[in-house]
Amino acid sequence: MRESNATTDARTDAGTGTGLSGKVIVVTGGSRGLGAATGRVLGMAGAQIVLADVELDRARDHAAALAQLDIDAIALPLDVGDEQQVRQLMAAVRERFGRLDALVNNAGIDRTAPVTELDAADWERIVRTNLTGPFLMVKHALTLLPRGGHIVNIASTASKRAWPNASAYHATKWGLLGLSHALHAELRASGIKVTAVVAGGMRTPFLLERFPDIDPQVLQDPIDVARTVRFVLSQPEATVIPEVMVLPMRESSWP
Ligand code: NAD
Repeated sequence: MRESNATTDARTDAGTGTGLSGKVIVVTGGSRGLGAATGRVLGMAGAQIVLADVELDRARDHAAALAQLDIDAIALPLDVGDEQQVRQLMAAVRERFGRLDALVNNAGIDRTAPVTELDAADWERIVRTNLTGPFLMVKHALTLLPRGGHIVNIASTASKRAWPNASAYHATKWGLLGLSHALHAELRASGIKVTAVVAGGMRTPFLLERFPDIDPQVLQDPIDVARTVRFVLSQPEATVIPEVMVLPMRESSWP
């Protein structure tokens, strides 16, 4: 059963913006953390969700959990940095749904280490996943996205500020924000919307596994960021939000 507030939201959208009912939406890194929350929130609003992740079993488990909520979700294998896999994913989406309405470039990784301890393989893995991946996904998604299609890129406060021991992560997240604005400028004429969601700290394994001493109370629930993704996807046809920032009240990565 869908949550009653999601039903209300879907009805509200029908009056003031674009409803998500029946839309086909690919969420990369959709098996856990923000990707899992995004699949849930968009699915609750009636979208058909493709959870695309390197962790296929976990994506399948999440798709099964979403099915319990009456959400239409499937899991597909994807390494966003592998162009052949990106092509195969788009072919599978075309075969199953015949179209794609939105892409959420969410998959991301980090390695916490001083620059002297990052080797070239770490650097390349992070760049490939966080920056080359979204480029490949957009390039191939554009073969399926119609006018009115939407690309959402999950950026970070790490796209605008910098702290120690995250040089590759910062380079990719600043790069992703730049890529997002470049795509917004380039694709607007084709009727494709592009949005960067600049998120502050979230209670996901991404932070909680690496920093066990962090106080989870200073972080935001990924569901709240997922609701921001739903908000930008639900704007009226003639409006686009190129960038939005969503922060927890207490976490300190933004003043
Ligand atoms: P997470 O580690 O909990 O989840 C990331 C997901 O991406 C996992 O399911 C993982 O299997 C998948 N993934 C990793 N590499 C992949 C690849 N090559 N191809 C496909 N899938 C892959 O992380 P999260 O916190 O949910 O982060 C989601 C996004 O939000 C990331 O882009 C991250 O940079 C960004 N972000 C996170 C925070 C935070 O505080 N957690 C803050 C701002 C932005």
